Amino acid sequence: MKLMKNKERIRNIGIVAHIDHGKTTMTDSLLAEAGLLSWQVAGLARALDYLEEEQRRGITMKTANISLIHETDDQPNVINLIDTPGHVDFTGKVTRALRATDGVVVVVDAVEEVMAQTETVVRQALWERVKPILFINKIDRLINELRLEAEGIQRKLAHIITDFNNLIEIYGESEFKSKWKVDPSEETVVFGSALYKWGFSLDMIGQKGVKFADIVETCKKGQHKTLSKMLPLHDAILDAAIRNCPSPIEAQKYRVPKIWRGNLDSAVGKALLNCDDHGPTIMCVTNVQADPNEGTVATARLFSGSAKEDDRVYLIGANKEYKLKHVFMYMSAFKEVVDQIPAGNVAALTGLDLARAGETVVDGAYKESVVPFESMKYVSEPVIAVAIEPKNPKDLPSLAKALDRLSIEDPNLVVKIDEKTGEYMLSGMGELHLETSLKFLKDYSSGVEIVASNPTADYRESVVGKGQVVMAKSPNKQNSLRVLVEPFEEKTGNSWAFDEQNNVLVDLTENCKILPELRDSIISGFRWACKTGPLCEQPMRNVEVNLIDARIHEEPTLREPRQIMRAMSRAVLGSFLTAKPILLEPIYKIEISTPIQWFGKCTIILASRRGKIQTVENRGNVAMITGYIPVAETFGFSAEMRSSTSGRVFWQSTFDRWERVPERIATEVIRQTRMRKGLPPEIPKPSKFVDEI
Ligand code: GDP
Repeated sequence: MKLMKNKERIRNIGIVAHIDHGKTTMTDSLLAEAGLLSWQVAGLARALDYLEEEQRRGITMKTANISLIHETDDQPNVINLIDTPGHVDFTGKVTRALRATDGVVVVVDAVEEVMAQTETVVRQALWERVKPILFINKIDRLINELRLEAEGIQRKLAHIITDFNNLIEIYGESEFKSKWKVDPSEETVVFGSALYKWGFSLDMIGQKGVKFADIVETCKKGQHKTLSKMLPLHDAILDAAIRNCPSPIEAQKYRVPKIWRGNLDSAVGKALLNCDDHGPTIMCVTNVQADPNEGTVATARLFSGSAKEDDRVYLIGANKEYKLKHVFMYMSAFKEVVDQIPAGNVAALTGLDLARAGETVVDGAYKESVVPFESMKYVSEPVIAVAIEPKNPKDLPSLAKALDRLSIEDPNLVVKIDEKTGEYMLSGMGELHLETSLKFLKDYSSGVEIVASNPTADYRESVVGKGQVVMAKSPNKQNSLRVLVEPFEEKTGNSWAFDEQNNVLVDLTENCKILPELRDSIISGFRWACKTGPLCEQPMRNVEVNLIDARIHEEPTLREPRQIMRAMSRAVLGSFLTAKPILLEPIYKIEISTPIQWFGKCTIILASRRGKIQTVENRGNVAMITGYIPVAETFGFSAEMRSSTSGRVFWQSTFDRWERVPERIATEVIRQTRMRKGLPPEIPKPSKFVDEI
């Protein structure tokens, strides 16, 4: 607690990795050192994987946080270690965890080298101005499995370091690029074996007088205990992190201008830049868990001020004031209540019911003057969906409650109710994300049996031509709106509304005085139409709606919001259909690592699923294929790949972009989607929606 006040001695660190590169194994080794786990069981106990589901699958999905103490140069330091999930389906969680950190240890498997997820997490870290250092793990495999000699090992390591620095070159901002490139001679690269708990930087072996060749020899003999006594992994990693990652005092000076858009010269701005305990309390929520006993538990990084019990705080996004119930310090799965947590640290807070990841929490006295933190950039978006319902209709309320809880905890999961069928639609980032969400739902609803449809790709509707000006009347025929739909190109000054799917509403009316409340109804109508396009009731994307003219009745009872909203949504749907409508599908970037003998098989499978190969790279006897595949073609892909390659091929896919569905396929997809939703199979004509074209 005393140390938490000494900001030069605090490090907020994340650990990120491509799945299976050894992040959990490494984290366990670090926890053991802090005395929370016995040292011998580290690597087996997987302390951060405290959820049963995670234990079973062996992947970390919930971000947990823990505070450790480690001595360097005879001085104790506090390390707030933020665990992040390793699977791409959970990149949203990685991003939120990164906001709380100032430095990250990027774990890379020495055999597999830099992979797709390594690139994603490094890009996210650099966007948040979080400084990366590199841990090259599984060195023992280079020695004992690949049987490389010292020279071969050094060549492979040099290759990884070059690739890693390339990512910093590509994604780094100019002022950090050269400063942040990693360099083994500067202790920004650590080598080791998380499984056997040894690790070293060149600096460390230099000081201890150990030669690289000796390490190789000792490892060859399988004397890992000797190595871990001589070169303990936690010392190597924590020393490197403390010496090379910035303290919050140092980091906030350059991170705040990037992640906060308020005035840096104001009192609040200065408190944030200086990580000032005496400034107003300002925190950014990075993770939320709905605990059945404690209620909402928010994990937050304190950028200024301090957090104490009974403090009055205000949530900017939720627009609500609360009293902080308890303030906790994290100890892995456990939380310890503490009096207060000062600026620069990470705390767990209860009492903030409406807090969500990304929320800005401020001192109640400053609620008018503080602007929120920048929204977090998600690299992925939800692109596959399943329809779910309880097996037994009487379980619907329990399922609804569980869905509520899950959508609080996971902002990357989108839950919608299909009004026609009454089904819940869950959209997520990939099959694994949805599969685990269903498991959580079952747990959260005390075992309700859930029936889920097969997953489908989440399509979007868009236009490629300039539509016609159409006129639609309100249901009572007393109001009429003229609208023109076209592809969205760039934002103009008179846009009234904009949504996350790049749809924009532009006001092009002349001489119509539109009252503010009518304007709100028109915007609601626009949003409503954008949510369910006319092709197959999928959301619109990249659509510009121009309001050309509005004839509104003078009599308030004849121009109720509902009337105006209906006229607007019908006009948008009608003009949309005249603007060369198209269907968009999500495309994954896919990275396949395959032994050479299965290379041909992989390319055949990809081609049969409308996949395209972009690059092929040889890494010894393994080929790395990078390409693209439509999400709709990935169902059953795992089973096919496994059975045709004896399970020897590994791959990973991440959402890359939206692309037009080829015409020959689109008609059928639209028809099937309509049927699934209980709609007539044919696309309606514009005249169904509008009164004049
Ligand atoms: P995560 O997905 O990044 O958390 O990876 P894990 O920590 O779960 O490790 C994935 C697999 O790699 C497990 O089977 C580990 O035992 C293994 N592993 C981790 N580190 C090492 C290492 O240094 N050497 C070897 N040989 N295996 C390792």
